[in-house]
Amino acid sequence: MTDESADALLSGYARFRQDHWAGAKAQYERLAEHGQKPHTLIIACSDSRTDPALVFDTAPGQLFVVRNIANLVPPYEPDGHLHGVSAALEFGVKVLKVRRIVIMGHAYCGGVNAMLHGAPADCQDFVAPWVGQGASAVRRIAEAVEPDQVERAAEEAVVRLSIDNLRTFPWIAEREARGELTLTGLHFGIADGILRALTGPGRFEPLG
Ligand SMILES: [Zn+2]
Repeated sequence: MTDESADALLSGYARFRQDHWAGAKAQYERLAEHGQKPHTLIIACSDSRTDPALVFDTAPGQLFVVRNIANLVPPYEPDGHLHGVSAALEFGVKVLKVRRIVIMGHAYCGGVNAMLHGAPADCQDFVAPWVGQGASAVRRIAEAVEPDQVERAAEEAVVRLSIDNLRTFPWIAEREARGELTLTGLHFGIADGILRALTGPGRFEPLG
């Protein structure tokens, strides 16, 4: 490995071994011995600027993380096809028994932008149909707000869509009804570092 990305990865790994490992070794050993017991399953965007472990300053073993383009949860479709998000939800909820599922959207989301304006021309095999699942919800919102509010409103609409789709999974809806599972919608501002939480239909307010 001689290129720039390899250098960045290797020097990061060296810092991990040197600075982090000594303090975390016992913790990792405990997790290896006893297994993981994360309290929260989080679905965030793959965007490199919105890392849940950094934003929540979590330790290993605390978050069960799914990341995909535009933090989308497809609806419940047990049809034998390959559903990565649904598989993670099934394992996280039924086996790990997480107590909370968080959907974390974010500002400047390219996936949401693709819902509004179309996927890049050379991303028609997978990106276009993936973001297509949110297009109608996003475009409906876009028509209802001022032009300078469209991006933020669309990003929030995708968080709400994912929360709605979580409730199409019967074992999520049942656990939520019994008070065993909480669903939380968040939006991360990136430039201001502020998380805003979905507090009511269509309302996001700063956390804390
Ligand atoms: Zn994004």
